[in-house]
Amino acid sequence: MIYLDYQATTPVAPEVAEAMQPWIADRFVNPHSPSRWGREAAAAIEVARKQVEQAIGLPGGGLAFTGSATEALNWALKGTLEKAPAGRNRIVTITTEHAAVLDSCEWLGSRGHDLTRLPVGPDGLLNLGDLEEALDERVAIVAVMLVNNEIGVIQPVGDIARLAHEAGALMLCDAVQGLGRVEIPEGPDLVAVSAHKVHGPKGIGALWMRKGAEPAPLVHGGGQELGLRSGTLSPALCVGFGAAARLASERREQDRGHVERLWDAALAQLGSTWTVNGNVEHRYPGNLNIHREGVDGARLISDLRDIAFSLGSACASGSGRPSHVLRALGLTDRQARSSIRLGFGRYTTEEELVGAVRRIDSAAGAQQGLAA
Ligand code: PLP
Repeated sequence: MIYLDYQATTPVAPEVAEAMQPWIADRFVNPHSPSRWGREAAAAIEVARKQVEQAIGLPGGGLAFTGSATEALNWALKGTLEKAPAGRNRIVTITTEHAAVLDSCEWLGSRGHDLTRLPVGPDGLLNLGDLEEALDERVAIVAVMLVNNEIGVIQPVGDIARLAHEAGALMLCDAVQGLGRVEIPEGPDLVAVSAHKVHGPKGIGALWMRKGAEPAPLVHGGGQELGLRSGTLSPALCVGFGAAARLASERREQDRGHVERLWDAALAQLGSTWTVNGNVEHRYPGNLNIHREGVDGARLISDLRDIAFSLGSACASGSGRPSHVLRALGLTDRQARSSIRLGFGRYTTEEELVGAVRRIDSAAGAQQGLAA
């Protein structure tokens, strides 16, 4: 298989699997128990916490592990609204957010909170003037992601946080696709991340919280994570996340250079019948979302079964509905259905990427009755 679905999940790094191994096998102890073994596991979790905090790279806050970034985003939004002062009842977000944000906002809307979903331009970027207009003393939180999971564009999160703060609101940044790949600008009060997007294990995420901006708890129980998030932590998952974060920090320049070369090679191979969806400058280059008029993206995926790529987010791919992100850019349903997302990174070779792109291009030509 040629794996080109790095936005859905990333291959587990060998160093991560190795770091996790002892904690899966004999060191199965509960990290919250007072025994020597429990304390050793707790210490390993604290090392991992520091490693993830360092990869996030923001000052003045702390991090709680969660079961996923989806949980972290739910917690950030619902817990912030619960603690918000009377009269600050509104959430501002954008139409191209991940379902974890949009559906949490919808749910809060159904519970009586107000919701503003701002549009993006044809390049996928938020217009800061639109945000300024939407902000006032009724806004509790602004939620905008750093790197879009479907089209890879990078929102101006530092400016968004500044405007949110000027209006007295908090800023939540979904940095799931940005961690270890692009710098997270200073400004956000809450940052959600996920291990499996940075070559770590699935089933663990985290919420970084600026001191003083901690949301009210969502998951109640033993209060293991700073008294704010309950549930026994898995030392194996935490250690795996820590190892993945450390590697991402250490290899940031190397990974970035590799991904830029892959992007150039893929574009050179594609030719002019394909159009890149979203801004080509403000983007993470390991996400190549493209469309070609008249092509059926789903058919391409089933025609090329040994290449793993997708139509957009894993969630959107299952539903059969055209992507809400591509629709938000102004693509027609037809153009959205003729779009595909190629995601590549640390372990993709140029040879396999260029070979896959060549085959995708000729399968698209074959669909249109063109000689391949
Ligand atoms: N936010 C973004 C931008 C994502 O790409 C994803 C994963 O698809 C999530 C949130 C959810 O992360 P998790 O799989 O850890 O719940």
